[in-house]
Amino acid sequence: MATLEIVNVRKSFGSVEVLKGIDIAAEDGEFLVLVGPSGCGKSTLLNAIAGLQANDSGEIRIDGRDVSGLHPKDRDIAMVFQTYALYPNLSVWENIAFPLEARGVSKADRRAEAERVAELLHLTDYLDRKPRQLSGGQRQRVAMGRALVRDPQIFLFDEPLSNLDAKLRVVMRTEIKKLHRTLGTTMVYVTHDQIEAMTLATKIVVLRGGEVQQVGAPDDVYNLPANMFVAGFMGSPS
Ligand code: ADP
Ligand code: MG
Repeated sequence: MATLEIVNVRKSFGSVEVLKGIDIAAEDGEFLVLVGPSGCGKSTLLNAIAGLQANDSGEIRIDGRDVSGLHPKDRDIAMVFQTYALYPNLSVWENIAFPLEARGVSKADRRAEAERVAELLHLTDYLDRKPRQLSGGQRQRVAMGRALVRDPQIFLFDEPLSNLDAKLRVVMRTEIKKLHRTLGTTMVYVTHDQIEAMTLATKIVVLRGGEVQQVGAPDDVYNLPANMFVAGFMGSPS
């Protein structure tokens, strides 16, 4: 568990400034949801937090320490993507435990850790299957398992449910919420789905064109939108 502070973070691609000085703070155990239209910089911001792309300036602080210069592996952050590449020839448990192999964890311990994580994700009965024998929702759970097994301080999710059908999205949304309650880990979750944001968030950040429009509790963002853009985007009546 950890606090996360994003302080005046900027990022350009060529001459286009995609993040225009972002300031966000998440408390320990917060479920922060970043919402905004396609192209507003959500993934760019997550990638900067994870260290997959360097920010040009500003700081990304975890528990008060700027990690901007650190390699992704040294940030104690795990990220779940919309498209998740599972290893087709490895079983479910081997896919989940894969990050532990690089850490030199023994096979018996990897299996035990995979079992622990599988229980949280309702995958216990599928541990010895191959990814092709799973449904889309189950595969996304395996991808989440691979993040969970690392026991990170912070979880990042980049539109993890976008590839699932509407019904399954509702199920997975509930499970992610439960997971957050169980683990208590700080989570940053990107979506362009307002309902997903309202259900999951302890705090919502509305982005537009690389700028923060509003930060607040879901009810406040919905009922007291800071401007016309937020009102329109969150679908509130005012
Ligand atoms: P979102 O995730 O909110 O849809 P992104 O963060 O992916 O938005 O992208 C924000 C903007 O930055 C878009 O205009 C996109 O085209 C641009 N962009 C993202 N990544 C790159 C890149 N690697 N090179 C150039 N432009 C990029
Ligand atoms: Mg994106």
